Amino acid sequence: MGKVLKCSDVHLGCKFEAHGESEEDVLRVHSEHAKKEHKLTEIRPEDWEKARKATREDDGRKAAGR
Ligand SMILES: [Zn+2]
Repeated sequence: MGKVLKCSDVHLGCKFEAHGESEEDVLRVHSEHAKKEHKLTEIRPEDWEKARKATREDDGRKAAGR
């Protein structure tokens, strides 16, 4: 079991989900995604904070099937 960050918690309407072993992993994956898909040139401290707060335990199947 790892961590998950749903991009929609930070960028409304985005279906991307970042998965990782740790919060750090998830944030790194998400920052790459945000740069590519949301045209961010840099991730500001408040963006990290927002993403960090939105990161939660990845309990897999509960989130699936929607
Ligand atoms: Zn996104």
